[in-house]
Amino acid sequence: MASAAAAALVETIKATIMGGHPDYLKIRSEWIRKLAHEYEVPFKDLEKVVKRIENSYAPWMRMAGEGQKLIRPTIVKLGGSVITDKRRKFMVKQAALRRLANELTAVKGPLVVVHGGGSFGHTVAFKYNIAKGYEGERQLMGFSLTHRAMEKLNAHVIDALQKAGLPSVAIQPSACAVVRDGRIESMELTPVRKFLELGIIPVLYGDAVPDLSRGMSILSGDQLVVYLARELRASHVILGVDVDGVYTADPKVRGNARLVRMITPTSWRDVVKSIGAAGGPDVTGGMANKVEELLRLAESGIEAEIVNAAKPDILKRAILGERGLGTTIKVG
Ligand code: ADP
Repeated sequence: MASAAAAALVETIKATIMGGHPDYLKIRSEWIRKLAHEYEVPFKDLEKVVKRIENSYAPWMRMAGEGQKLIRPTIVKLGGSVITDKRRKFMVKQAALRRLANELTAVKGPLVVVHGGGSFGHTVAFKYNIAKGYEGERQLMGFSLTHRAMEKLNAHVIDALQKAGLPSVAIQPSACAVVRDGRIESMELTPVRKFLELGIIPVLYGDAVPDLSRGMSILSGDQLVVYLARELRASHVILGVDVDGVYTADPKVRGNARLVRMITPTSWRDVVKSIGAAGGPDVTGGMANKVEELLRLAESGIEAEIVNAAKPDILKRAILGERGLGTTIKVG
């Protein structure tokens, strides 16, 4: 009888942790109480079984059993501007990547890593106009080359994570995302959830993807971050770039640009006016797109931060919960 209760609990625990339920501990006790009553077994005996199940999961699951609530995933984006040299084709900033992989070891719960394209994906995708959609046969090889470039960069990221002792696997976005007109319509996330449950870090990246209406398009790492954060109910979303956050103008061009510490849907209208990106092509090197993606996320109640991951320890400090290091994007 007790084993039937335990089996029912395994299912509940799995469902609960993978939803990243914030009230896991409360629900856990309620369930143990209910089942103990139903199967007439002592609460304490059943709790022991639950602990055993929790211990067979990842370390962060054990922490949940020990009274911590850290079970919703952290999502970190490593910007292409940080891990590659954008001025030199296919050039990885190995030292920065090594350092960032070590900083990521500060994450104590489940972690999803997303990285950008930098001088790998962008250059090839641009050459073949992949983002515009299918225009002709010439793009097919361009699509293939763009994806391959991203796989190569991804392999560098995975190597660095492994060297830092972080078990990680590549997840190919073009093989699991259904995209229409450049936006994710749905995505098969069962393997990602299972990896998180096991304690393995899924690593995704901006990718060339088949598009239901355009034929092909580019799915940015920034859009992926937002989609994943919403679906996996992320506890913490951090985007690392090579500047201190969002400025009133490109800080690399304008010496007098001011750092904007907080952006809300209302304040963004003024900021975007000052940086002159409204309506037109993204003159901010991707920064306006980033903020607009993150504002969508803020509307579903998840705030995000853009920090300077090119400076040592900033990403780590953000992971450890320090606020005000860069720009926070939130509602109100
Ligand atoms: P990543 O590829 O790392 O995700 P992007 O290159 O898309 O990041 O965006 C970061 C770059 O945006 C910075 O290197 C910066 O020079 C540029 N940029 C342009 N306008 C702004 C702005 N208003 N505030 C901050 N950065 C800006």
